[in-house]
Amino acid sequence: MTGIQELLLSRIREIEDHPEPGVRFKDITPLLADPEAFAALTDALADIAVRTGATKIVGLEARGFILGAPAAVRAGIGFIPVRKAGKLPGATLRQAYDLEYGSAEIEVHAEDLSAGDRVLVVDDVLATGGTAEASIQLVRRAGAEVAGLAVLMELAFLQGRARLEPALAGAPLTAL
Ligand code: AMP
Repeated sequence: MTGIQELLLSRIREIEDHPEPGVRFKDITPLLADPEAFAALTDALADIAVRTGATKIVGLEARGFILGAPAAVRAGIGFIPVRKAGKLPGATLRQAYDLEYGSAEIEVHAEDLSAGDRVLVVDDVLATGGTAEASIQLVRRAGAEVAGLAVLMELAFLQGRARLEPALAGAPLTAL
């Protein structure tokens, strides 16, 4: 493990049985409160954006906003929010995806992405991959290319990486 990985890991707090029994929640608020760790994470995400030739970062509500926005500024590219359905005021593209019980929908402003854009999707935790998969589908439906997916943490035992392989179609998935 690199020094940066050790620093990031040391600032993630695990909370048992949140938001429901059996879930070990990865709480990033200690990392956000530490300017050295937050800056290291921002730099690492911005590096990925530059390396993958991304022209925009798409951040997933809500913690993907906190991580993706400063990285976009650092990389000198735009930030686009993907939100839960019903929050964005303009004309949107909407994508439904399955949850363990039921389903959910996310949206992006249709005018925010277009052909010629290369998008790095950013979130804090990759779990089953359902949210990321739906986001990648949205990006493609908007006509943009997927430069990659970058997350702070991957919960490998949930096998999100394997699920995302077809959607990513060779674009890199980086778990810091
Ligand atoms: P999934 O769609 O299953 O990959 O879930 C990913 C979304 O749920 C991300 O936006 C995460 O922020 C959140 N999430 C899932 N599992 C956890 C966890 N154990 N700790 C913190 N956040 C989680």
